[in-house]
Amino acid sequence: MAVSRRNFLKLSGAGLAASALGLDLAPLEAKAEDLPIRFAKETTSICPYCSVGCGMIMHTWVGI
Ligand code: SF4
Repeated sequence: MAVSRRNFLKLSGAGLAASALGLDLAPLEAKAEDLPIRFAKETTSICPYCSVGCGMIMHTWVGI
């Protein structure tokens, strides 16, 4: 199931609110297991935008 960035942010906000209230987060965690980033390839690189050269961890997802 595809989860849009907007819906992901809504779910994340709901999860934070629920944990603050002491609610059970198991269903939300189960939903997070379905997110596309689970299948993404993780690679490291450096940011090219200034001379500092901060490290980055990139997630590349080409679909399933
Ligand atoms: S400070 Fe780091 S993250 Fe920001 S633009 Fe420069 S290299 Fe990139």
